[in-house]
Amino acid sequence: MRHIKNPPNPYNRYSAEYVGEPPPTKLEVFEETATKKIITKAFASDWEGGWRYTVNCYRGCVHGCTYCFARQYHEYLGYGAGTDFETKIVVKPNAPKLLREELKKTRNKMPHLDFSFATDPYVALEAEYKLTRQCLVVCAEFQIPVGVITKSPLVTRDIDVFKKLNNVFVFFSLPFLTKEKSNPFEPYTPVPEARFRAMKTLSDAGIRTGIGIAPVIPGYNESDIPGLLERAKESGATKAFMSMLHLDTDSIEEYFVQKMHERLSPTAAKKIINTMTRERGGSLRHKTYKERSTGKTEQWEVTKRLFDFHAKRLGFRSGAESIEQHSEPVYQPVQQSLF
Ligand code: SF4
Repeated sequence: MRHIKNPPNPYNRYSAEYVGEPPPTKLEVFEETATKKIITKAFASDWEGGWRYTVNCYRGCVHGCTYCFARQYHEYLGYGAGTDFETKIVVKPNAPKLLREELKKTRNKMPHLDFSFATDPYVALEAEYKLTRQCLVVCAEFQIPVGVITKSPLVTRDIDVFKKLNNVFVFFSLPFLTKEKSNPFEPYTPVPEARFRAMKTLSDAGIRTGIGIAPVIPGYNESDIPGLLERAKESGATKAFMSMLHLDTDSIEEYFVQKMHERLSPTAAKKIINTMTRERGGSLRHKTYKERSTGKTEQWEVTKRLFDFHAKRLGFRSGAESIEQHSEPVYQPVQQSLF
């Protein structure tokens, strides 16, 4: 029996197959001295404009969302995109030092920095390491516009630093309204209620907040969109975006499907698969890169109309802008996501 919970790494020549139950996994933390750069220019196909400048103080993510597109980056390290991504976490203790050195040279050319792209900047390890916090302090020194996307209430610890930044926006990734809905796909994340509480705490402190309904899983959470936007509005959010689920690699698709079958009823799983494959030419993946990056599918149009209607109804203003230009409350009527 193949250990699909951690699909074979396609970059490795050999892979182990387990007979019977795989060995139990435990959290392993590796410290890595980053020697080159800490700022990465990354192409976010969902994000308008595409290119983003990102800082990741960690690799891997204990939140373990089964849909996470960042799982593929763990394969570049020689690990697997399944359980390895959730249990083998790489920490970069010198990230704040590197960031300061880089910004001394590049400050004038740096339009913004996003935390993060390949992990959640507030994984539980951050409580001890404080690397995201130290990097934010550096951003405050250089007055770099900052965007944060997280699922963790730990972000409220850094309100004092956010107040020193004159351009910061904190998004909460919140695709599901209840913990029952969230749990099959986000097994180790703080429950939605905790994320809304953290959003309100930040908003009440004067920090601009937003909601990312990402991903929308076709046939599963479209009906949560109105309620999520309402709760976000009550919690002080002024900006919202959404994106549809995309499974970018074979490994991610395998893991997502396996966990879906383990954690959902056969009927619920079948509904998702049928809804996705109907439009994606019999596959769970988008037919073309363009389709994925623009989101111009029939499903996207229908879901977008629902999202736009409720965003307008709740007073989020329409208009597309990048994270560093949010002088007024807006919602993004284009596909846009990081997590
Ligand atoms: S989606 Fe975000 S929070 Fe979830 S596993 Fe990926 S990086 Fe972590």
